[in-house]
Amino acid sequence: MEKVRVLIIGSGPAGYTAGIYASRANLSPVIYEGDQPGGQLIQTTEIENFPGYPEGIQGPEMMEEFKKQAERFGAKVISRRIDSVDFSQRPFKAVDDAGETIEADAVIISTGASAKYLGLPDEEKYRGMGVSACATCDGFFYRKKNVAVVGGGDTACEEALYLSNLCKKVYLIVRKGYLRASEVMQKRVREKENISILFNCNTTGLFGEDGVEGAHVVKNLGTPEEDHFTIDIDGFFLAIGHNPNTGIFKGQIDLDEQGYIKTQAPTTKTNIPGVFAAGDCADPIYRQAIVAAGTGARAALDAEKFLMDSNDL
Ligand code: NDP
Repeated sequence: MEKVRVLIIGSGPAGYTAGIYASRANLSPVIYEGDQPGGQLIQTTEIENFPGYPEGIQGPEMMEEFKKQAERFGAKVISRRIDSVDFSQRPFKAVDDAGETIEADAVIISTGASAKYLGLPDEEKYRGMGVSACATCDGFFYRKKNVAVVGGGDTACEEALYLSNLCKKVYLIVRKGYLRASEVMQKRVREKENISILFNCNTTGLFGEDGVEGAHVVKNLGTPEEDHFTIDIDGFFLAIGHNPNTGIFKGQIDLDEQGYIKTQAPTTKTNIPGVFAAGDCADPIYRQAIVAAGTGARAALDAEKFLMDSNDL
């Protein structure tokens, strides 16, 4: 059994940044990377909105640099996933996918969130070639082009509005006959001349040679009025929600109705003293790498203070 002072679960911008801060504070953190080392940014291409990279940088490359920076100061990065935790008493316990138990005086959870996809094979085929789940990240590549956003909630409306300022035309593909988004968002979307809302529509596939060139859409699926048509688009954005990767923490710490970890703002404290949460697993709103990195730094500082106050330092 390994005993560590700070265990960091998850390796996106939040986890690595927590690793940088915790290692520089001499806390010898151990980062469990999980199944997707680097987190969601591994799936993105160019990142142009992270300060410090004026020319932009590829997502995987940026995460590699974060990792190197954490390791430079002594963070230990382990390519395994944590499968279960026991926060009922200190030291906290975690068991990894090899069955090893790790004990920790403090834990920083940074397991991120995963965008929901429709489950179409074409989403995989065109991932990074026209299919995206983040308009703020990738919208810029579709300037003056036609795009579609799937979803009828606040995120979909927000993404559609964001894209409408960049793109020629935005189709908002909504599976029901109404939007679920707040009134104010609905109004804004309806008032935008270059947003066209396709109600009662489902996407059944995408097509294109070297990237997305269009989508197959069905209106009134399964009814006598069923109507099949295509739309010409270069970008296909999913905005049908995110799932925080917090399944293993259920019953161990307080989560909100959607499964996001509840923290005591403005800190990263959870309801268990000594357990902190950073990044998208505790953030239903911003979901940006720079924000995740910021909360990672805060979590490490909170953990350091906790260990100091409990005379563990
Ligand atoms: P929501 O769960 O609110 O909305 C998801 C949307 O995606 C719904 O319209 C849903 O359709 C649709 N959807 C889900 N699955 C599918 C599918 N398989 N095929 C087609 N459509 C699908 O998620 P959001 O991410 O929009 O919002 C999450 C939370 O965050 C909400 O509480 C929201 O209010 C909040 N939020 C607030 C913002 C703000 O205030 N500025 C900005 C962004 C989010 P259906 O309605 O048919 O179920």
